[in-house]
Parts: sequence; structure tokens; C-alpha cells
Amino acid sequence: MQKLQNYINGQLTDPIGKTYIDNYDPSVGKVYSLIPDSDERDVQLAVDAAKAAFPAWSVTPKDDRAAILLKISSLIDKNLDRLAKAESKDNGKPVSLARTVDIPRASANFHFYATGILHYASEAHAMEDTAINYTLRNPVGIAGCISPWNLPLYLFSWKIAPALAAGNCVVAKPSEITPMTAFLLSELCIEAGLPPGVLNIVHGYGHKVGSVIAAHPEIPLISFTGGTKTGAEIARVAAPMFKKLSLELGGKNPNIIFADCDYNHMLATTMRSSFANQGQICLCGSRILVERSLYEKFKTDFVAKAMKMTVGNPADEKTKMGAIVSKQHMEKILNCIELAKEEGGKILCGGERVVLQGENKDGYFIAPTVIEGLPYDCRTNMEEIFGPVVTIMPFDTEEQALAYANSTPYGLSATVWTENLTRAHRLSGKLHTGIVWVNCWLLRDLRTPFGGVKSSGVGREGGFEALHFFTEPKNICIQIKN
Ligand code: NAD
Repeated sequence: MQKLQNYINGQLTDPIGKTYIDNYDPSVGKVYSLIPDSDERDVQLAVDAAKAAFPAWSVTPKDDRAAILLKISSLIDKNLDRLAKAESKDNGKPVSLARTVDIPRASANFHFYATGILHYASEAHAMEDTAINYTLRNPVGIAGCISPWNLPLYLFSWKIAPALAAGNCVVAKPSEITPMTAFLLSELCIEAGLPPGVLNIVHGYGHKVGSVIAAHPEIPLISFTGGTKTGAEIARVAAPMFKKLSLELGGKNPNIIFADCDYNHMLATTMRSSFANQGQICLCGSRILVERSLYEKFKTDFVAKAMKMTVGNPADEKTKMGAIVSKQHMEKILNCIELAKEEGGKILCGGERVVLQGENKDGYFIAPTVIEGLPYDCRTNMEEIFGPVVTIMPFDTEEQALAYANSTPYGLSATVWTENLTRAHRLSGKLHTGIVWVNCWLLRDLRTPFGGVKSSGVGREGGFEALHFFTEPKNICIQIKN
């Protein structure tokens, strides 16, 4: 059975403890590879390597750093098919999704920041004829990057690329649930000629590797994407050490549909925003709020479409809905569905595990699930489920829709469907979220600030926001008049 390795100081290495974690293929429910069960000793090796590499990497000309990152990007493109298949097997997502979204985006992340750093400039502030201030933006040092399982290589590279472009060295930990493409990336980094120690990837559990990275005194910056509870724990440990923190956390995003929307476009997009990646995207719209006059029509059409969405083998090119990432997560989602029933919710479709035939008979599949009849403030409508489960609710006025939308502790994204331009602007300004999509969903321009408010996180990724985060500004004031 394949044993993955850490990537430390430019080499693929076994964990010092020589112990491993089982890695499951969720579409068949079987272990198919082993992940290093690393501990603080492996993290220390990675930190030592990063520390040794930093003096040279931080002063490597931007053009040279960019050239290596572009090489990594093109190697990802060259290995698109292999990486897409690996991502699909590791995560359960349809291979077609990995091929068209996850892996191209991972390549784009490297490409974007390789070129972005070349255009990154800092400010100057002239004080008339008294002085001139300018800002130096230096790399921070060793960046700790910790990522989740839902978009494995996509989110892993979304942190690593800007960190490296800005001149930092990195100690990174991918999710132990989906480590495969991060491992394959380490091979590509070696092939691309990334100097040893610049990027170090330590595999293992959150409580044994992630927590050591978060608490490590020589790692002054943590970029984390994952659950809100984990983010709070990282903040608890890192804040008293005055680390720079970027936390991209959970969501419970509203999808607000007005009767005047472009109906067919809305319906097709709402299918995606509800069930893409089995609903395991932090930006999925899990609370669908529909203007009452459209509610019954929407319900009929949406449920009919959801019932037609067949769950299948993720390796099959035609599959649109694959497996849930793990048994544990599948059970969590099924428990959430039970809670929705206890709270008085009516299951309009789905609501249960799907058992496929043949090799996928033990895989973790859940049918697209639509629930109605729940109050806006029940637990089901307040807590993140992170699966193919949405609730639908009617609303009567714009004020009511806004109140429902803003009622959860989360504030990641919102979607608004209306042809009324004035309303679109008015509502967008009042939604307590970091991102609002109007008449679209998951349309991404990598230059835009990405992140949430309230329990959805602190800080922004994307564009120059990430380069600001991965650099330390220093003001230099030069008097020009005595
Ligand atoms: P998680 O918080 O369980 O794990 C995320 C990462 O943190 C993993 O690598 C894990 O090993 C590590 N970790 C766990 N405990 C740790 C600790 N004590 N210290 C340091 N690291 C630790 O999240 P998950 O289940 O992998 O991912 C799903 C969650 O991620 C959902 O809540 C989802 O909304 C969120 N998410 C948010 C965004 C965003 O951009 N806001 C994007 C994707 C996913």
C-alpha cells in the first residue's frame, strides 16, 4: 500500500515516529494509502529547514521566485489528469469537478501570485516639504499554512502561493483526510527546482501537527482555513503570542431569491450552489429564502431537479454528485437531518444514505436533501451542516429576508437573485457577509478580497490582501528639511 511522505528540506521523508494514519477512498469506504502520523519532531525539522532557507529565499529577486512558481503552475497543468483523479479518489468529489475546478484553480493560484508579486508595490506618503515616508513590505518569516479537506489542493495552494511569492518560507499541513494532492505537489516542487526548505509539508493530525504549528514560537504567522471551532482554538493559542492570523472559517450562507429573478438562470445556479461538491463548499447556499409568490413554483421545480440528481461513482466522468468525504462526516450530516426532523422539518427529497451497487456499495453517499417547514432561527438554520442539505423558507418582504439572512452567527457569503438593480445594491450593502453574489454564484476574480465576518473568520485572502498579510509593513520616515 502506498505510504505518503513528508516534504522537508527539499526531500521526501518518513515521519520520525514511523507511524501512519489510514487514508480512505470514501467512494468505496476502504483504506487505500497511508499518511505520515507526524508529531512535533517532524514539525521542528520543517521549521529548522524553513529557517535555514529564509535568508536566501527572502532576498531572491521577485522575478526568480516568480519563475519557480510559474514552473510549479505549469507542472500542475501538465499533470492535470493525474491530479484530478487523485483528488477525486481522496475526497470523493466527481472527477469532472476536480478536472475543471480544483486542479485548474490550484494552477491558477500559483500563476496568479507568481505574476501578482511582480506588480505589488508599496506606498509613499509625502509630508509636503518636511519629510517623505515610504513603506517597506518585507516577508514575515516562516508562515504556517493549515488547510481543510473540501477543496484540498485548491485551498492548500491558495495559501502557499502568496506566502512563497512574498518571500516567506512555509511549513504547511494539509488535511489528514485528503493529503494525496499535497503529497503529489511536493514531488512537483522538487521537479520545479524549489530550493530546499522553502516549502515544507508535514502530514498528520490537527491535534498533533496543526496545533504544534499554531503554537510554535518561530512561526509568526498562521493562515488557517477550516472549521470555526478549530479557528477559535488556533486564535486562543496564537493570539497571546501576537501572531499574524488569517482565519477562513465556516458558513451558513443565505441564498435570497426574489420573484423578479431570471428564473431559469437562478434555478440552474441554485442547484450548483446547493449541491456542488456534495454541498461541501464553504460558500454553498444552505438556506434558500424565496419570496412567497414564487415559493411553490420554486419548490416544485427545485425538488424535481434535486430528485433527478443521481449520486454515483466519482471516478465516472458523468457523475455530478459523488461521495461524502468520510464516514464520520457522513454520520454528522445524517445526524443533522435527524435534528431537522425533530425540529419539525419536512424532508422533500433525499434525507438518507444512498447505497450503490458493486464496488461502491460501502461508499459514503447521501442523496441531495431539501427540507422545508423550519423556523429561520432553529438549530438546523443556524448551524453549519456542510453537506448536500438545504432548507427552503418563504419570506414576505425584503426586510424580512434581510433579517433572516443576517440572523446566524456566520457571515461568509450571500447570494441575491433579483432583476431590480436598486434592490440588489441596497441589499448587498446591508448583508453581514464578506462576499455577496448578485445573480451568480462562485464567480471568482482572484484579485478580490475573500473572507468572512462574524464567526466566518478574520482577515481576507485574495489579490493584494494576501500579499499584505504575508508581508510586514515598515514605515520609514525621512526628514527632508532641517
Ligand atoms: P477542521 O477545522 O476540522 O480542519 C481544518 C484543518 O485544521 C485540518 O488540516 C486539521 O487537521 C487542522 N486542525 C484540526 N485541529 C487543529 C488544531 N487544534 N490546531 C491546528 N490545526 C488543527 O475543518 P475541516 O473539517 O477540514 O473543514 C471543513 C470546515 O472548513 C467547514 O467548517 C468549512 O466551512 C470550512 N471551510 C472554510 C472555508 C473558507 O474559506 N472560509 C473554505 C473551506 C472550508
